[in-house]
Amino acid sequence: MKTKKLLVVVAHPDDEVFGPGGSIAKYSSLGVEIHLLCATHGESGQSVKNNQKEYKSGKTIHLIREKELLKSAEILGIKKVEFLDFIDGYLSNAIYHKLAGKIIRKIKSFKPQVIMTMDRSGISGHLDHIAVSLVTTYSYLKTAEAQKLYYLCLPKAWYDERKLDYFIYFPEGVDDDKITTRIQFPDFWEIKKKAMKAHKSQIKDVRNLLQSFENWPKIDNYILQYHRRAKVEIPENDLFSGI
Ligand SMILES: [Zn+2]
Repeated sequence: MKTKKLLVVVAHPDDEVFGPGGSIAKYSSLGVEIHLLCATHGESGQSVKNNQKEYKSGKTIHLIREKELLKSAEILGIKKVEFLDFIDGYLSNAIYHKLAGKIIRKIKSFKPQVIMTMDRSGISGHLDHIAVSLVTTYSYLKTAEAQKLYYLCLPKAWYDERKLDYFIYFPEGVDDDKITTRIQFPDFWEIKKKAMKAHKSQIKDVRNLLQSFENWPKIDNYILQYHRRAKVEIPENDLFSGI
């Protein structure tokens, strides 16, 4: 049987676990080959005290975050991580085609059946997330290898007002009837938590998010945005169903 392959495209180190970490851990345990593209090194991420000096120098925060992502990826079972070397906070339309070129090259060489990124709201509304979502969509449409493109999303019902101040405007999430695919990951919750904690420089965010995540159902929610050559039946509980 052909190896199942999943390509995950995110903007920053920590997006891979704060977002779809549960699904990634689950699919890697099922033998799916998972590669991750991370558009930036997360240079703008806040750093904890002991990294303060390096952070202020602006020289090594990207190395710290790169290492943290590699650790998290190892815990989640991601086989390969590639940094696309754009600058955190600068994914503007001026570089869309450059970014698309790199994603397209990866799709053509890796040939994943399934591609996953964030929904068009960027989930949190972060502009880098939105850019990555748009450009990944473009890259899927300009290539023929992948059969499904998924957007990770948050259900409206999970809306958490505590996040508002931090994010300015936190997109309200997706109506239940728009969610096509739900991946349960209760058996992988501990792994997700462990991978989250690998992002030591972001420990404030980690603690904040864990407060929400502890209370949420252990389910990742997706919109199957596009598909081809796949027998799709909605709703689904498997990213590879019908392939
Ligand atoms: Zn992010």
